[in-house]
Amino acid sequence: MSLDLDTKFPRRSLAFWPSPIHPLPRLSQELGVEVWAKRDDIASGLAFGGNKIRKLEFLAADAVAQGCDTLVSIGNIQSNHTRQVAAVAAVLGMRCRLVQEEWTRWDDPVYDKVGNILLSRLMGAETLLEGEGYSTAEKDTWQRALEQVRRDGGKPYAIPAGASDHPLGGLGYARFADEVAAQEQAQGVFFDTVVTATCTGSTQAGMVVGFAAQPRSRRVIGIDTAANAEMTRAAVTKIAQATARLAGLRREIGAADIEIEPRFAGPDYGLPDAATIAAIRMVARLEGMLTDPVYEGKSMAGLIAMARSGEIPKGARVLYAHLGGAPALNAYHKAFA
Ligand SMILES: *Cc1c(COP(=O)(O)O)cnc(C)c1O
Repeated sequence: MSLDLDTKFPRRSLAFWPSPIHPLPRLSQELGVEVWAKRDDIASGLAFGGNKIRKLEFLAADAVAQGCDTLVSIGNIQSNHTRQVAAVAAVLGMRCRLVQEEWTRWDDPVYDKVGNILLSRLMGAETLLEGEGYSTAEKDTWQRALEQVRRDGGKPYAIPAGASDHPLGGLGYARFADEVAAQEQAQGVFFDTVVTATCTGSTQAGMVVGFAAQPRSRRVIGIDTAANAEMTRAAVTKIAQATARLAGLRREIGAADIEIEPRFAGPDYGLPDAATIAAIRMVARLEGMLTDPVYEGKSMAGLIAMARSGEIPKGARVLYAHLGGAPALNAYHKAFA
């Protein structure tokens, strides 16, 4: 059973699907729990890829259908999301205007010069460094950027932070669930537990909806990376419920469907703690797999701790959703000094 999203919603394919899945044997041996990864970090040919590409496939088709000529979005200075919007604008032949806020006080003289922001500029995006503080609320800076495009005679397409709080934002990861089911069938496995980083919410929300349409239930653990689990829970719940209605899921999404784990977010959005750094080093050394201090290092720290404590029981088969993020690593060299 699936939601049949490809017949219901126009989508512009922007990556090499399905993203690969593979076991992580050395990590599994270390933890005593079988762990596989689904590599959304490497499935895209666009600018180092990542989870926003999957969501933007539906928004890109919509932007083209509406005749827009400029993608406008917002994120942190080292946002993976805005870098992926810049890449999508490039391949669509559109302009790109990005509000790059300071969500993190990360004291490094090259923080606003290397990594994601360097790549966005390289792809022709205009980057506006203004505004601060992470929140899922709508920002004035973003409204001003949209206004400016209109004043310049352009037709903007508005993409909120993380491509999340948008009517189509949850579809990409609802479709991910169908992809997982097809890969499970091909490999003869079933993942009873899925671990994902969560922040602006549409990644986890889409997964919850997509998996809810399948006959066998499973546990989706969202590791909060916003350091505000209640804000994250509200975002995931709102998007999951809206996506369920849009996609025609035959049941309601309730509180029991949404598991948000608050313990691994570190001191703040964008700031790692010792467990984040230890997790990044561990998977790098065991598996040659790169994770970052903002998102995937935190979700990996959660997976490791919960497997060791038995909160993810022995005998579980875990799918770790690798959502990207490694392009930010160079901006965080001090965290590894
Ligand atoms: C954006 C992002 C996330 C969080 O996804 P949301 O949909 O915002 O919850 C996780 N990992 C990486 C690498 C990201 O760029």
